Parts: sequence; C-alpha cells; structure tokens
Amino acid sequence: MSAAPPIRDEFNWELPAEAITVRVRWFGLCMGYVLVNLVGPGTHQPELNAILTLGAVYAIVDTYYSLKGRVFLNRAPLIISLMEAVFIGLLCHFDSGLESPFRFYYFLSLLVCAIRYAPMMTFSTFVLHAVSYSTLAVMGSADPATSWRTVALMVVLMGWVAWASTALAALIKTASRRLSQLNSELEENQSLLEDRIDERTRELQESQALLVQQEKQAAFGLLAAGIAHEVGNPLAAISSLVQMMNRRDLDDYTHERMRMVDEQLRRIQRTLRELVDFSRPATNEAALCGVHEALDAALSIAKYYKRKKGKQIVTNYADDLPRVMVVRDQLVQVFLNLILNAMDATPEGGTIEIATTLNDSWLLTTLTDNGHGIGVANQSRLFRPYFTTKTTGTGLGLFVCRRIIEQSGGRIELTESSAAGTTFTVSLPLFDNSVADSDVAQQALRVQSVANESLPQS
Ligand code: ADP
Repeated sequence: MSAAPPIRDEFNWELPAEAITVRVRWFGLCMGYVLVNLVGPGTHQPELNAILTLGAVYAIVDTYYSLKGRVFLNRAPLIISLMEAVFIGLLCHFDSGLESPFRFYYFLSLLVCAIRYAPMMTFSTFVLHAVSYSTLAVMGSADPATSWRTVALMVVLMGWVAWASTALAALIKTASRRLSQLNSELEENQSLLEDRIDERTRELQESQALLVQQEKQAAFGLLAAGIAHEVGNPLAAISSLVQMMNRRDLDDYTHERMRMVDEQLRRIQRTLRELVDFSRPATNEAALCGVHEALDAALSIAKYYKRKKGKQIVTNYADDLPRVMVVRDQLVQVFLNLILNAMDATPEGGTIEIATTLNDSWLLTTLTDNGHGIGVANQSRLFRPYFTTKTTGTGLGLFVCRRIIEQSGGRIELTESSAAGTTFTVSLPLFDNSVADSDVAQQALRVQSVANESLPQS
C-alpha cells in the first residue's frame, strides 16, 4: 500500500485577521471622534483630537498594507500592543481618567490581539494594558481606595476578555485549519482520481488500438487469401497450358518466349504466396527462431513496397547468432514495420542499414536510415497509439511493435535521430540453452500466452 500523500497546510490566518483588525481600528477611531467632538467636548478636546489623528495616520498605513495583501509591523506584535496601550492610556488620561469610556478600547485591543496572535502575545498585551490602566490611577487625583478598586475590577475584566477571546480564537483557528486540511485532502483525492481516470483512458485507448490493428490485419488476411484463390487458380491453369505448349515441337524463339512466360507466371505465384503467408500468419506459437531468418522474411515482403525504388538496403549480420524465443510471424511484422518506416523517411538514393550483434545476454538488431529524422518534440510520442506524421499513416505500427517486443521480454528503442537519419534498436533476450526441456516448453508457453493475450492475429 502506498503512503498517503502529505497534507498541504494552506491555512493562512494572517490576512483575514488583519482585515478584521483594520475594521475594528476604524470603528474605534470614528467612535473616538464622535465621543470627543459631539457627545461631550471637554477641556482637552484638541489633545484628544491630536491623539486620535495620530491613531488615524497609523490606521491609514495599516489599511494600505492590508489592501496590498501584507501586514504592517507583523514581525513586531509587542510594539503594536505597546503603542495601543500608550494610545488608549493617553486617551483616557486626557478624557476623564479611570472612568473614561475610552477604557473599553482595552477590550477591543485584547480581542483583536487574540484573533491575530498566539495566546502568549494576548496575555503579554493584557499585562501592558493592565500597567497602562494602573498608571491612570497613579496619575489621577481621585480617592486612592476607589481608584484601586476600579483598577482591580478593570484588570479582572481585561483578564477575562483576554482568556475568553483567546479560547474563542483558538477554537476558530482549529476549525479553519481542519477545514483547510480537509480541503487539501479533497484536492489530493481529486487529483488521484483524475490520474486514475487518465490511466484507464490510456489503457482503453491502447486496447482499442490493438483491436483496430487486429481487425485490419484479419480483414487484410481474408482479402489476400481471396485474391490468391481467385488469381491463383487461373494462373495455375495458364502455367500448365504454357508448359504443355512448350513440350511441343516449336522453334527455338517460341520455346524461349514460352519459358520466359512460365518464369513470370511462377514469379506472380510466388508473390501471391508471400502475401498470403504474411497476412495470415501460420502460427502464433513462440518458438526458437533465427533473427536473420525473420529479417530476411521481412525484407522479402518489403521489396514489393512502392517506396523501395532507388533505396539501398545493406545488411550487416553477425555470424553464428543464437536463436531467440519469439512468435516468428510477429517478429517479422516488427522488422517489416521498421523497414517500411525507414523507407518512408529516406529520399531516393538513401540507404537503410540493418545490423545484428550480441551484447551480454541480449541480441541487438539496429535499423539505421539516412532519412529526414524525427523531431525532438515527436520523439516522446513515437510509441503512443495513433501517433503518425504521415497522411496515410495509422500510427499503430510502432505501438504494436513495442507490445510484441516487450511481450517477448525485449525492448525496442529509438537510439538516435537527427536530420542525418534515424536508428531504432530491437533488443531480444537470449534463450538460455542450458535449461531443461520442460523449462524450454514453459518459456515458450509464457511468451506465447502473453502474445495471445492481446496481439493482432488474423
Ligand atoms: P505510421 O507508419 O502509420 O505513421 P508508426 O507507428 O509506424 O505509424 O510510426 C509513427 C511515426 O513515427 C511515423 O508517422 C513517423 O513520423 C515516425 N517514424 C517512425 N520511423 C521513422 C523513421 N525511421 N524516420 C523518421 N520518422 C519515423
């Protein structure tokens, strides 16, 4: 079982908390202006207005940062708390001291601090506010006993607000973090699901491509057999007539011409036989097969290809190569496809070189042409079904080749491609001759069963 993907914590509390803070600040400032100028203008109205204006300047900077998606002084929360403690303390001092309505701003400040920061910071702010408020009692002229009672009550209330708002903020933060986690889990699952759908779609497309190829080859086999039958019978009749006539007492010139006609007739019959043999494979059984024999069979069919004209095929076979365990007709199909592709890519006068060699426990066959090559962007798409750059291509050739070779335990690769030409390499595993007969049979069965599973057959 694969490990669960890590959960991305995209929970970002800072900016929404800052947005709330900015609103609370502006609300406090507006209320302050109303209190100072409309509700009860006192003797210190100018000082109070100046302090509020200072606060407004700070709020403008804070709002500007918030609109830009940043938090002003976010690395110095204690300084903000200190400024707030001084700001509220001054407001209270120039207003009516301990009884000033501005003292409720301490609560707002604690609430905002709890929303924005960790509990530790809220409790530090609580201490700063308690000190700020206590200083009012020291500086005031009221009865000390009454003053300290008021301070004590206020400090208890501030502590209460600090604790309650911290608990509430922690609850909201936990819920949001959980929601955010659930959201990323959901996204992970969704992308996993999309990956699976992509994989299934690709598998479906591949089996559909194999089916298409299978049907085409079956139809081609039937057609070839039908043509061979229809053309073959009259050909056989003509051939025996020619032979009968040739046995007669004819002059040398006619004898020679009759012999030539017979030769051409045999050639047509041979071509027909090759066509039928190729399109209706004799066997689907894996067996030990010589790679050179398969290459020659592919070449004997490729010579009929219309684009063969003017192109040279050079074979460079290694001596004494061991045989490989494959379905012979399928291997011919692979080589034929590679040869036809090379012919399509080379101009007249071009060369296609086929070489075989041994490399450790692999038998390598390389097909090199000096054609136009394959563009880098197309190289990764070569073995995908339906990839073709030809107007009449199906894009199934290399895809089917890869299936056949991989099912024989081998590999097929584009080894090189440039404007100077292309090389494909087919690597087939060597058959282990030292294994017992029963193992040979088993190995053959294995290759055969995978081949039967999905490969095109007629
Ligand atoms: P098809 O021959 O029907 O196009 P293939 O799967 O056999 O299908 O080939 C896919 C594509 O790979 C071809 O259309 C061609 O663009 C490219 N290709 C294959 N072999 C060669 C080659 N030797 N040289 C250049 N391009 C090639």
